[in-house]
Amino acid sequence: MKHRWLVMSLMLAFSGVSLFSAAGTLDIYVIDVEGGKAMIVQNPSGQSMMIDGGMGNARDLGRVVAVADELGIKQFDVFLITHYDVDHVGNVPSIYAKYPAKLLVDHGPLLPNPKLAPINRKAADAYVAFLPGKKRLTVKPGDRIPFKDVTISVVASNEAVLSKPLPGAGQPNSACPAVAPEAIRNDDNAASIGALWQFGKFRMGDFGDLLQWAEIKLMCPNNPIGAVDLFMVSHHGLDRSNHPALVHGLWPKAAIVNNGERKGVSPAVVQALRSSPGLQDVWQLHYSVTAGAELNPPEQFLANMKAQDCPGHYIKVSARRDGSFTVTNSRNNFSKTYK
Ligand SMILES: [Zn+2]
Repeated sequence: MKHRWLVMSLMLAFSGVSLFSAAGTLDIYVIDVEGGKAMIVQNPSGQSMMIDGGMGNARDLGRVVAVADELGIKQFDVFLITHYDVDHVGNVPSIYAKYPAKLLVDHGPLLPNPKLAPINRKAADAYVAFLPGKKRLTVKPGDRIPFKDVTISVVASNEAVLSKPLPGAGQPNSACPAVAPEAIRNDDNAASIGALWQFGKFRMGDFGDLLQWAEIKLMCPNNPIGAVDLFMVSHHGLDRSNHPALVHGLWPKAAIVNNGERKGVSPAVVQALRSSPGLQDVWQLHYSVTAGAELNPPEQFLANMKAQDCPGHYIKVSARRDGSFTVTNSRNNFSKTYK
């Protein structure tokens, strides 16, 4: 009898070890900043990366801090700023003040843009004013963002895109439009850093708020990226981004939308996602009131049900080197593994 207890305790101890030894996974926390962008990533080597930070307000800062503290983060190895619009860069100086970053990665100088809204101009200026004394790396397409265990290939930055395909990619893209749309600049979205993340066989695409004309410039006529497992839906799910040339070209198994209750999840994007071959599920940070019941995914895939008194639940992705990944909804602990 004693022997049996010993065996059981040993088995429990071992299962505990496998749970808490970071399990060799790449962990991605998609934080709810109500229609902005904020993600924290941890690699198996223990490095951490902050990506954007939401609006410059106490609510978004509090949500980032809650996750960073839960993970025991004291400083970030990399702080990646996809672009300088306020819902991405607004909180960067305040996050940095709490958790300094060894390296800031961004797209470089703000391109001339007379139509940039004052709120975005102010946020971009504040970011530039914050830079002196910080270690900064400006990336262009073809560069890599340094982060252990993961190959992060920059495919778009400051309106430039890859000039030659990544290894193994470059096939014609059947979802391309007949005529390329004209470039539109009312904000810094088209300058977003877009990147392919590769962790073993797991592949993820994240393009910030890249606009459709820049997506098409990147993805047409040939797809220089190939397929991904997970697509971080661009631009909060707005239809100024997420052209089928990008969505269908990437062929994702799952997609995560960083929308707000009343921002993002445009009907055309829901259509592009639902018609994407191989796409199993769309996860959203919020129930979208503007999209309505029909265009929202089932309740278990929604991290937050309403904006008022919103607790700001996050969505967690744990990716493994064999290409499989698990997505977990922190509101209800519903999770699903994609093989
Ligand atoms: Zn945005």
